[in-house]
Amino acid sequence: MTDDAITLHPIGTIATPFQTLDACPRNGRQPDPPPQCRVRLLPEFAQGLRSLDGFGHLILLYWLHRVRAPKLLFTPPFDTEERGVFATRSPARPNPIGLSVVAFDGFDGPDTLLVRYLDCLDGTPLLDVKPYLPSTDAEPDARMGWLGPHRTR
Ligand code: SAM
Repeated sequence: MTDDAITLHPIGTIATPFQTLDACPRNGRQPDPPPQCRVRLLPEFAQGLRSLDGFGHLILLYWLHRVRAPKLLFTPPFDTEERGVFATRSPARPNPIGLSVVAFDGFDGPDTLLVRYLDCLDGTPLLDVKPYLPSTDAEPDARMGWLGPHRTR
């Protein structure tokens, strides 16, 4: 692995009802109903949330901090064939960055966001918050490769 390491600083913490890895859904759309979660920003970043109130969905990037080691090849639990990690949404990646598109239900105070459709452990470090823009981010007809036949919400 190259040694040009990058330093990331969490901007906050994600609070979810999922206390163990086994309790986490495979993706945020599985739980029905989806639990409301809290995204708490560190006070020094809270002013960066200004004007977020008008968006209905957000993209959250977070650090999957309990990943032990990346696996470049593995057989997903619901599959029979070995897949490359970059063809999956597995957490066991060289840079374990999690990404979720979440429903934004508003603020709970100046530095806390109420969201739904998350799949991460309680206490997961938050890396970034971005507004979800259907005009540029949505591809409802995108092909889903090997995942096509397995897709469950
Ligand atoms: N939605 C994200 C994405 O697509 O990047 C994550 C998908 S990954 C399949 C979700 C799984 O990651 C959960 O079911 C759980 O097993 C694991 N996970 C959740 N939070 C984690 C954390 N903080 N550290 C390590 N693994 C985590």
